[in-house]
Amino acid sequence: MTRQSVTILGATGSIGVNTLDVIGRNPDRFAVAALTARRNVALLAEQCARFDARLAVIADPSLGRDLSAALRERGARAEVMTGPAGLAAAAAMPEADIVMAAIVGAAGLQSTFRAASCGKKILLANKESLVVAGEVFVNEARRHGARIVPVDSEHNAIFQSLPLGFEAGAGLADGLDAAGVEKVILTASGGPFLDLPAAELAGVTPAQACKHPNWEMGRKISVDSATLMNKGLEVIEARWLFNARPEQIEVLIHPQSIVHSMVAYRDGSVLAQMGTPDMRTPIAHALAWPQRIEAGVRRLNLAQMNDLSFREPDLQRFPCLGLAFEAMRRGGSAPATLNAANEIAVESFLEGRIGFDRIPQLVEATLERAELCRLDSLDEVLEHDREARRIARRIAEQLQ
Ligand code: NAD
Ligand code: MG
Repeated sequence: MTRQSVTILGATGSIGVNTLDVIGRNPDRFAVAALTARRNVALLAEQCARFDARLAVIADPSLGRDLSAALRERGARAEVMTGPAGLAAAAAMPEADIVMAAIVGAAGLQSTFRAASCGKKILLANKESLVVAGEVFVNEARRHGARIVPVDSEHNAIFQSLPLGFEAGAGLADGLDAAGVEKVILTASGGPFLDLPAAELAGVTPAQACKHPNWEMGRKISVDSATLMNKGLEVIEARWLFNARPEQIEVLIHPQSIVHSMVAYRDGSVLAQMGTPDMRTPIAHALAWPQRIEAGVRRLNLAQMNDLSFREPDLQRFPCLGLAFEAMRRGGSAPATLNAANEIAVESFLEGRIGFDRIPQLVEATLERAELCRLDSLDEVLEHDREARRIARRIAEQLQ
């Protein structure tokens, strides 16, 4: 069997590390092309040595020399590049068949977009790319024959519950109706504050917000899970991944995180994908699709599970989800504004400058002030993202 070569954008993060774990379990199938990180030189060098990467990219340009030294020390042969040009080169590497997009935030957009322009098989964890660039991104992928395989556990579950071949042809869905799909149902754990009284939300700390009951993830997505903005971003992600109309997307709270999402069909069938909450399952599925490989995951023991429950989300206590639905319905630049404001809000919260309850306020105020317009190219998307961040930063200062 010829091995497929994988580039990981964001190799040192939670998704990156899990991806290398799955690759390490399947060395006959996968090799590593390029690995990238923002600042974690030591871990990146160790990963490059262990997986014999060809290219190592450190996004912070001041760390290039340190990376070269660290690679030499470990006897690793990877070539070194830095900054945005390095990230783009990693995404475009001719020998890479697969690009795992696992940088966090809109910072991952340009390199993920580059992978789309190069027609790669893109394993998409970086949901913010799709939220920010939406139609521009899927059109670029389609134009260049890039297949997008969802890694986000909910979207991967939906992908698994759609009819075989649904996305296989064009790389992207032709619309859900043709497949008899009525709606997609995204499940949400509800995060660490699901049952916390509303009055106490203002006082929660970053440490509490980052302690997710079921999943271990990076800090940004952990805060997003606590506000339910993560589910909001996923609603918009689903809109583009599955070419769904806004009214075809629903969210249900499912605190056990066993049913990872569902697809409801015209004949009354509801198909779900289940598993223990471990990102190595969707990562392995996306890597090997349409085959199945070992992921090192604990097996689900349904007989020991006496409670699988579902309920509607409380949009009063978690306004971020409602704001995301609204941004999706408005379309145009609204989702990009929502994402930019959220990134500023989460950063401000993690740095202790604003309270947890200010996050939705900051997002809402930015949506009110930023221009609502069409975004037709990557440049327009990036310019809008910068402007929305400027507005959000000003509002954040007033909220402090
Ligand atoms: P993380 O913070 O653990 O890792 C982020 C990675 O991106 C790191 O390798 C970091 O070095 C790199 N990075 C960060 N900022 C960068 C920048 N400005 N330029 C270049 N590289 C940069 O994040 P994560 O939890 O692994 O999440 C990654 C993406 O996957 C996010 O978009 C998240 O929403 C999505 N996702 C994560 C999970 C999960 O379980 N962690 C699940 C579903 C989706
Ligand atoms: Mg998810």
